[in-house]
Amino acid sequence: MGGEEMIDLRSDTVTKPTEEMRKAMAQAEVGDDVYGEDPTVNELEKLAAKIFGKEDALFVPSGTMGNQVSIMAHTQRGDEVILEANSHIFWYEVGAMAVLSGVMPHPVAGKNGVMDPDDVKKAIRPDNVHFPRTSLITIENTHNRSGGRVIPLENMKEIYSIAKEFGINVHVDGARIFNASVATGIPAKEYARYADSVMFCLSKGLCAPVGSVVVGDSEFIKRARKARKMLGGGMRQAGVLAAAGIIALTKMVDRLKEDHENARFLAMKLREIGYQVNPEDVETNMVILRTDNLRVNASVFLKELEENGVLASSLSDTEIRLVTHKDVSRSQIEDALNVFEKLFRKLS
Ligand SMILES: *Cc1c(COP(=O)(O)O)cnc(C)c1O
Repeated sequence: MGGEEMIDLRSDTVTKPTEEMRKAMAQAEVGDDVYGEDPTVNELEKLAAKIFGKEDALFVPSGTMGNQVSIMAHTQRGDEVILEANSHIFWYEVGAMAVLSGVMPHPVAGKNGVMDPDDVKKAIRPDNVHFPRTSLITIENTHNRSGGRVIPLENMKEIYSIAKEFGINVHVDGARIFNASVATGIPAKEYARYADSVMFCLSKGLCAPVGSVVVGDSEFIKRARKARKMLGGGMRQAGVLAAAGIIALTKMVDRLKEDHENARFLAMKLREIGYQVNPEDVETNMVILRTDNLRVNASVFLKELEENGVLASSLSDTEIRLVTHKDVSRSQIEDALNVFEKLFRKLS
């Protein structure tokens, strides 16, 4: 799997670092980051804090660790965390919040990843001897399992104001917050105004080989830094990685719009072929294709795609996820569409 000639639409995590990143990595000035002495990590953290309008930032090895050190830093054991029922933190982080922070998830079902502020308010636990304490609300923007949908700024604002009314913190899982920003034209800083902390990934559409960053106020970052050390995420000459991250942030954000255009093009053409796809739902770099009108389920369909040189992933038995990114060109999208056309004739 994943040979050179495959068209890989599984995820934007498969993107390879650019030549410029590799050069910067080779030449990076480094030091011991656990001592706070890696100048390149320090530069990346300073840059991220500035972009998001926060006091400080922390470079972490993965998005999962970024979310988890944030949860650790915001909560006490036995607390409850309100999150969207289809969120990454709930689905794909191996139950880490329960294991590492000893906190309980309180899922709220959203629509396309968007939680109704009234539902969030109702999920907040009143002061009662029987209840856990609600100490955190998390919001995922863009929302992965709903196909890269953007959470509107207005919704974040409403949830943030409810949170503040109850003295609760808000963490944004912004693994793909720059996709939201590029799609809407709203700066990352504006989204960050309605969050006490934001995690974003350098290693997805922004093409860095490794790494994510958490931003927030200095006291929060101090606690998150300690949590990172506890989890074994204190890295030493990590400037080699941060160097690529700096290029991700300074050079790779604007080009995300190409991925969005490719996703919309792919969705439109898939619908023309006859697939169950809603191009109107494509807001960023993901397309969800339903397999209900095919004679096979999602996993069989994925195998057929793979045999024809296209890789994708499934969200359920009846949903395929296609993700566009730097390493799939428009002409490869067209090649993939030829495969989809052939398979539609065979399987519908
Ligand atoms: C990918 C992703 C993460 C986690 O990132 P890893 O680096 O894979 O651990 C967190 N949240 C969302 C929404 C993601 O898509």
